[in-house]
Amino acid sequence: MRILLLVLTAIGLCVAWQCTAPPAVETVTETATLKLVKEGIWFRMGERDQGHCNNVVIDIGDGLLVVDANFPSGAEALMKDIEQVSEKPVRYVFDTHHHGDHAYANAVWTRQGATTLAYIGVAEEMKRYEPAGWQAAAKARPDVAAVGADTVEPPMETFEVVPHTLEGASRKVEFHHFGWAHTRGDGMVFLPDDGILCTGDAIVNGPFNFTGHSNTGNWPNVVKQAEALQPTTILPGHGPSGGPEIAAGQRQFFEELNAAVEAAFADGKSLEDVVTVEDGAGVETVIELSDDVSNWVAARFAEQVRVRYAELAEGKPHGEIVGGP
Ligand SMILES: [Zn+2]
Repeated sequence: MRILLLVLTAIGLCVAWQCTAPPAVETVTETATLKLVKEGIWFRMGERDQGHCNNVVIDIGDGLLVVDANFPSGAEALMKDIEQVSEKPVRYVFDTHHHGDHAYANAVWTRQGATTLAYIGVAEEMKRYEPAGWQAAAKARPDVAAVGADTVEPPMETFEVVPHTLEGASRKVEFHHFGWAHTRGDGMVFLPDDGILCTGDAIVNGPFNFTGHSNTGNWPNVVKQAEALQPTTILPGHGPSGGPEIAAGQRQFFEELNAAVEAAFADGKSLEDVVTVEDGAGVETVIELSDDVSNWVAARFAEQVRVRYAELAEGKPHGEIVGGP
């Protein structure tokens, strides 16, 4: 409404003064979808029905840093939101990992002049899983097909030594990698002066844990290291934002999952004893976790149990079973 009034007033003045210049762009504090976390930091929850991940926009003084490229349709929605809250250009886009809902709009951002950035493990995962992942997505998603490429555009810059820091004119940013949880490339963004941690899918808030390329056995260790940063605000890759309880709950979920499957495995239970598998995926399980972690348990739970069992049976992380060493 405020924007509408401003525009109408500007048009009114223009008519009165017969001005030809367009009305000046007026930025707003936040939009209906891009929410202000604190000054210069915004959080956008992705549209789940379009497969979008969450995004974070960080004003580093001399431009903006976006956390996660998203799918192309998610990137375009975010770009429209950004235009409303800031006149600064997007200078950097950080991919927390290689999955399509986090990285497939890389080319969309670089065509706008941004530099894409990731931990080296993200580029290495792309070599393992692409171009197959991209080509399947391009068949199913018009926004991916519209990029007009044969595969994902890898990050323009990668780093191996962590934490990697970026000294913006007004804000310091740390990029972390605590090991293999959701994928081998899992990166997180920490804003030390703000106590804000952007976690990608290594920490999600809700039943969104995808274990397809994971090291489920190691997952709690990664979360524990992230918790050691003592963030006061967590902006997850999927699900709503919150405080440190999101990390604690995510860690407890994987601790309980791993302990339950490890106990069954040690008891000599077979895969069929603990999980019903159809077409290679777990669809039902006898394993139950405590009510404390019910936020993380839903339809994918039986598959998460199957994945942890497979890791124990094969003696290696699930990502190595499906993606190779
Ligand atoms: Zn993911």
